[in-house]
Amino acid sequence: MPHHLKSPSKNTITGTTLKPAESVAVVVSSIIDDIRTSGDDAVRKYSEKFDKWSPKSFKLTNDEIADIVKSLPEQIIKDIIEVQKNVRTFAQAQFDSLKEFELEIQPGVFLGQKNIPISSVGAYIPGGRYPLLASAHMTILTAKVAGVPHVMGFTPPINGKIPAATVAAMSLAGADSIYILGGVQAISAMALGTETIPKVDFIAGPGNAFVAEAKRQFFGAVGIDLFAGPTEVLIVADESADPFTVATDLLSQAEHGPDTPAVLITTSEELGRKSIEFVDIILERMPTAEIASVSWKTFGEVVVVKDLGEAYSTADIYASEHVQILTQNPREALEKMKNYGALFLGEKTCVSYGDKVIGTNHVLPTRGAARYTGGLWVGKYLRTVTYQEVRSPQASAELGRLCGRAARVENFEGHARSGDLRANRYLGDRHAW
Ligand code: NAD
Repeated sequence: MPHHLKSPSKNTITGTTLKPAESVAVVVSSIIDDIRTSGDDAVRKYSEKFDKWSPKSFKLTNDEIADIVKSLPEQIIKDIIEVQKNVRTFAQAQFDSLKEFELEIQPGVFLGQKNIPISSVGAYIPGGRYPLLASAHMTILTAKVAGVPHVMGFTPPINGKIPAATVAAMSLAGADSIYILGGVQAISAMALGTETIPKVDFIAGPGNAFVAEAKRQFFGAVGIDLFAGPTEVLIVADESADPFTVATDLLSQAEHGPDTPAVLITTSEELGRKSIEFVDIILERMPTAEIASVSWKTFGEVVVVKDLGEAYSTADIYASEHVQILTQNPREALEKMKNYGALFLGEKTCVSYGDKVIGTNHVLPTRGAARYTGGLWVGKYLRTVTYQEVRSPQASAELGRLCGRAARVENFEGHARSGDLRANRYLGDRHAW
């Protein structure tokens, strides 16, 4: 039986539930109702309330964007371009792997599949606490690779200021318009449309519990990419892992917010104990310790298991967003593990690379959603649709007879008659049913 060296004081992901905290759901639905009724006025009211942000227009002009990009040090722009190259190359490879095809399923009967990009996307780039510019590459650039013609980017101000590097990343990623607006008010404006903000067909991007809940509440009225809420990390380690690396990597995610589960599952009790000691030591010196220590105290877990088989099956129950494998044979996890948003194999790889630079998409499922979906990718921005054409009269007559019988078993007389009509027509009697 697995046993805990450190237990969380609040259990989040082991419960694998998508139910939001009661208070978050209530706050979000009341903001949505207000924006549905009062449009731009309510958007402005909540932007003032939560972000102390009420500019003349939430949308940046092209001149403003150009000035912001120019104001940044050259190295920041070069780095954004380099990272976006990785993200574009991987997204393009995913796009190229998608197939459109046409199949002659029986003589004279053709069935096909096409991938059509969604027409308009709203991309949310989080930024309440940190300017998460990497999310611009992940959401906007990926939509552009998929061929989405109109992408609107939204990001909140940070401490009353426009996050310049985020705006540059959004612009370089190909955003067609950029709004400085965050939280539930941004998601609601995109989903409902207001007097000044056009409604979109699909919303993508990660965010805090309020943002994720707003997307959840709008699902159906618009498409959403996935439930990508507060980040999570889970490390599977054996006795070969370095405890300082384990502790560093657990905290690299815990600093995201006070609600970040960081879990270690290990076959080595000694590694578990040392990792806990190192977490405490690192926290004493980390500038973001105020946030990371709340996460670690509340949601941090260290679980000792008997062998790696038990480690993988326990990790699959958590279905964590990021799973890092620090074992002697990390590639084994590719075969053994089933539930994760993204897998990071071996000590030379780390979740921070995935978050910031390596090129895979960092918008990933949280709160157990990895049990049924992967992360954001070009495919989420495409509608895979089908078409069919019966070219041969003989084939249509045969399908017509089959359809007539199949429909009558279900008591669908109208369906049956559409089949009968063709069967009779192509067998010679144009007017009979
Ligand atoms: P954010 O942009 O998601 O949220 C900021 C907004 O929250 C603000 O604009 C404000 O309007 C709103 N807000 C704050 N307090 C509120 C309240 N009490 N009521 C209503 N609205 C409120 O930025 P953040 O807060 O820094 O969070 C970013 C989140 O994104 C983190 O939790 C991080 O873990 C997560 N993330 C997830 C993934 C993923 O793929 N799952 C990837 C990157 C980041």
